[in-house]
Amino acid sequence: MIQKLALLSALFCVFLLSTFFIYITDGVIGFHYDDFKENVNAYSYLLNNPETTYLSKENSFFTDGLAIGSAFALAFSMFFIYLANGRITVLLLCGYFLSSAMLLSLFLGFPLSIVSAGFYQLHSVDIPVLIVISKLLLMWFSVLIFKAKSISIRVYWVIKSICWLLLFYLPICFILPIKISLYLSVYIELSISTLLLIVGVYLIQKSHRLSVLFTLFVFIQFIFALLNFVALYVFSIDVYYKYPYLYTVSFWLSGSITVFMLSRGYYYQIQDKKIAEQKALKSLDKSKKAQAELLMLQEESQEKLESRVQERTLELNIALQELESVNKELAEKNTLDELTGLYNRRYYDQKVVAEYRRSRRNLTPLSLVVIDIDHFKKVNDNHGHIAGDQCLIWVAGKIKAALGRVTDLGCRYGGEEFCLILPETDTKGAISLAETLRESIESEIFVFDKVKIPMTISCGVSTYWQQPDITPENIFAAADEALYSAKKNGRNQVQKKILTGSTES
Ligand code: GH3
Ligand code: MG
Ligand code: MG
Repeated sequence: MIQKLALLSALFCVFLLSTFFIYITDGVIGFHYDDFKENVNAYSYLLNNPETTYLSKENSFFTDGLAIGSAFALAFSMFFIYLANGRITVLLLCGYFLSSAMLLSLFLGFPLSIVSAGFYQLHSVDIPVLIVISKLLLMWFSVLIFKAKSISIRVYWVIKSICWLLLFYLPICFILPIKISLYLSVYIELSISTLLLIVGVYLIQKSHRLSVLFTLFVFIQFIFALLNFVALYVFSIDVYYKYPYLYTVSFWLSGSITVFMLSRGYYYQIQDKKIAEQKALKSLDKSKKAQAELLMLQEESQEKLESRVQERTLELNIALQELESVNKELAEKNTLDELTGLYNRRYYDQKVVAEYRRSRRNLTPLSLVVIDIDHFKKVNDNHGHIAGDQCLIWVAGKIKAALGRVTDLGCRYGGEEFCLILPETDTKGAISLAETLRESIESEIFVFDKVKIPMTISCGVSTYWQQPDITPENIFAAADEALYSAKKNGRNQVQKKILTGSTES
C-alpha cells in the first residue's frame, strides 16, 4: 500500500513539476514572465536603493521554472509520503518545504502576488510571513524528530515558547509597516538559525543519533542567514536578488540533508523496532522458560506436599490406633470392678443379654451362678472393713481361678455378691464349677494380718435352655432364688433352680 502511494506521489510530483515548468516558461495561462520581473527585488524596501528594483535577467525562465517546480515537487512528495505513513513530522516537513519553495519563487523573481491575481497587499509581506512560517514549522519538526521533551525539558520549553512567540507575531506581520516586518524577518531568520545551531551542538554533545545531520542542516541555514544579514546591513546588497540561485543552492542543500535525515530517522526507527522485536522474542523465551521452571517447582512442591500428607496421614493413623487402644483400655477399665478386678455390674447387665441372645441363636445352654459370702457382715464386724475388702479380693481371685473357659465370666454383682455367666454350660456343669469354687474357699483359709479368716459361700444355679418366655432377668431371679434356698438350708452349699418357661419348679 505504502509503495503504491509513494509511486503515485512520485508520478504526481513529476506532473506538478512539468506543469509548473510549462506554467512559467510558456506563458500558457497568459503570463509573461518579463511583465512581473521588475517587482522582484524582495528587500528593496530595506535598501533605499531604487536602481536595484529592476531586474534585468533574460532567458532565465527555464532554470527558474526547474528550480521552483522541483522545490514544490519536493514539498508535494512529502505530502504524499505523509498520506502514506500518517507521520506528523513528514507533514511539518512538507509545510516547511512548501514555504521554502514559495520563498525560493519569491527570490527568483516570482512574487506570490501574481498568483493571487490583484492581491498586491501580499507583496513584500510575503517574505516575512513565509520566513516566520518556515521557521515555525522547522522548529516544530525539530522538537518532534528529536523528542526534545525527553532529551531536555529546558530546550523543549525554549523552542516551544519561541514557537508561540512566532505564532503570535505572524498576524502582526500583516499590520506592521513592510519595512519593519522585513527588517524583523531578517533578524528572526538569523536568530532562529543560531538558536537551532546551538540546539544541534547540544544534541551532538548528548550524542543523539541524528544530531550531526541536523547540525549540518541548520549550519547551512545559519550561513545563508548570516550572509543575507551581513550583505543587507553591512554592504547594503540584496544577495538573493543579485545572485538569485544562492537561495536555490541553500534550499536544495538543506532540503536534501533534511530528507536524508528523515530517512535516517526512519531507518533508526525500523532498527529500533527490530531490536525491540528481538528483545520481545527473547523475553518471551525467558518467560516461557520461567513458566516451565515454575511448573516444575509446582510439581515438585506438589510431590513434597503429597509425601508430607502421606506422612501426616500415617502419623494420624498411628495416633488414632493409639487412641483406639487407650479408649479400649478405658472401656475395659470402665467394665471392671476397681476392688476385685472382676467385671462390674454394668458389664454384667450388658453381657448377660448378649449371651442370652447367643444362646438362643445357637440353641446352647446358658447358666448363671449367683454367689454370696456367708455371714460376711460378721467378717467386717470382727476384722474391720479393710480386712473385709481383702477377703473380697481373695474370693474374687478364687472365682477367676475357677473359671475354666475363655467364655466364662465372673462379675461382682454388688457388695459381697458375685455372679458367674457360663455360656454353653448346662446345670450339671454349672453346679460342678460352683461346687469346686465353694470347696476351694472353704478349704483354703484366708489369712489377713496373720489372722485366719475362714469363709464359706452359698451359690444359686439356674440354667436357660431355650425355655419359652424366659428373659435374662428371669434366669438371674431363678439363680437368686436357688441362692436363697442355699442360705435357708444352712449356707455353704450349692442349690439349683430349674427354669420351666414362665412356670418355675
Ligand atoms: P448371709 O449373706 O450369710 O445371710 O449373711 P451376711 O452377713 O453376708 O448378710 P448380707 O449379705 O446381708 O450382708 C452383706 C454384708 O456384706 C454387709 C456389709 O457389711 C458387707 N459388705 C458388702 N459390700 C462390702 C464391701 O465392699 N466391702 C466390705 N468390707 N464389706 C462389704
Ligand atoms: Mg449378701
Ligand atoms: Mg452374705
